[in-house]
Amino acid sequence: MTERIYHYDSYVKRCEAKVLDVRRTDSGIEILLDRTILYPGGGGQPADFGIIRGEGFEIGVIASREEGDDVWHIGSLKGKVPNRGEEVLVSLDWDRRYENMVQHTAQHILSAAILKLRGADTQGFQIFEEKSKIEIELQDLSWKDIVEFEIEANSQAKRCLEIKVDTTDTAKNLRKISKKVLGEMRVIRIGDYDSTACGGTHVKNSVEVLPIKITNFYRKTSKIWRIEFVAGDRAIRTLNRFLEDYWKSMKTVGRKEPPLNERIREKISEYEKMLDEERVWRKKYGKLFREYIPKISHKVGKYTVAFYEGISVKDADKFVDEEIDVDFIVIISEKTFALYSRKKMAGKLLECLKSKMNVRGGGGDFSAKGRVEDVEKFREEIINCIREL
Ligand SMILES: [Zn+2]
Repeated sequence: MTERIYHYDSYVKRCEAKVLDVRRTDSGIEILLDRTILYPGGGGQPADFGIIRGEGFEIGVIASREEGDDVWHIGSLKGKVPNRGEEVLVSLDWDRRYENMVQHTAQHILSAAILKLRGADTQGFQIFEEKSKIEIELQDLSWKDIVEFEIEANSQAKRCLEIKVDTTDTAKNLRKISKKVLGEMRVIRIGDYDSTACGGTHVKNSVEVLPIKITNFYRKTSKIWRIEFVAGDRAIRTLNRFLEDYWKSMKTVGRKEPPLNERIREKISEYEKMLDEERVWRKKYGKLFREYIPKISHKVGKYTVAFYEGISVKDADKFVDEEIDVDFIVIISEKTFALYSRKKMAGKLLECLKSKMNVRGGGGDFSAKGRVEDVEKFREEIINCIREL
C-alpha cells in the first residue's frame, strides 16, 4: 500500500520514501513506494512528473498507475536497479503540478457556478497542456451565458474561500459524488460555495485560481456542450496569445478598427469580386487564344501545327477543343507540355517522342500531357515525329 501524501497535503514538494517493489519493463522501470507525493492522474487531472533519487540511481517519473491501494511510478532509470527496502527522495515537478491544481480548482468553482445559474451538471472534465475542458448538458448556450458564468465564478473566487479536504460517508449536500469510492468519500469543500467528491489535488485558497476565463464553447453533440477555460497565470498567457494573434490579424487585413470579423468579410467580398473579374478576362482571353492559334500554325509534312508557349498547360486544357482549325497544337510551359490533335493522334505523337528521347507523360487520342527536361530537343523531335506520322 502506498500512502498518498498529496491526498491530505497537495503542497508537499519533496518527501522521503522506501522502495517496496521494482519491475523492469521494455521501456524503463516501474517502482512501488511506501509513500508518495506524485499524483498518479485521474478525474481529468494528468499524472505528475517527478524524480525519484536513491543511492546510485535516479528515476525520471513521467506516468503512474494505480493498482488497488498501490501507486506504481513509471519512468526511465539512470544508474543501478533499486533494491527493495532502499531509501529514496521523491521530488515533484512543482510548477506543472501547481498549474494543474489551479486549473482543477477553477473547474470546481466554474462547475458550481454553471450549476447555480443554469442547473447544468458537469459531466466531463479534462486538463490539457494549454487549456481545460468541461462538458455540460444544456439545450443552448451563448456568449451572454458565458459572461454570466465567468462573473459568478470570478466573484466567488475573489471571496478568498478556503479549500479544505475531508472525508464523509454521506453523499448529502454534495455537488457530485464519486461512484468509484464506496463507503468513505474524499470531499473537497470550497468555503460555503461548493462541496464535491474528488480525488485530485487543489489549491488552498480560491484567490489562487484568479482569473478564470472561458476561451471557447461549442456543441459536442446535440445535447452536450464543451466549454474550454483557463485559470491563473495560464489565463493571462493564453489571453495574450489570443490578443497578439488578433491585433496581428487586424494589421494583416490592413485595418485598425474592430470588429475583425467584419474586416475579414470585406476582404473576402473584395476577393470574390476579383475572382468574378478574372472569370470575365479569362473568357475573353480564351476567345482570343482560339482565334490566334490558327494564325500562327504552319505546315509540317501533311499536317498543320501550332506551337504556343505563353500559357499554362492547365489553362490550355480549358481553351483547346476540336473546333480549332489546326491538326496539332503543342503547348509548352517551362518543362511541362500538352499535345492536342483533332486528328486523334496525340497519343501516337507522344509514343513517337518517347521512342526518340526522355519524355514522361500519358494521354489519349485528343490530348496528351507530360514533362520533359530537354525542351530544345523536344521542339525538334516533335517536328520529326509529325513528319513520320
Ligand atoms: Zn477536484
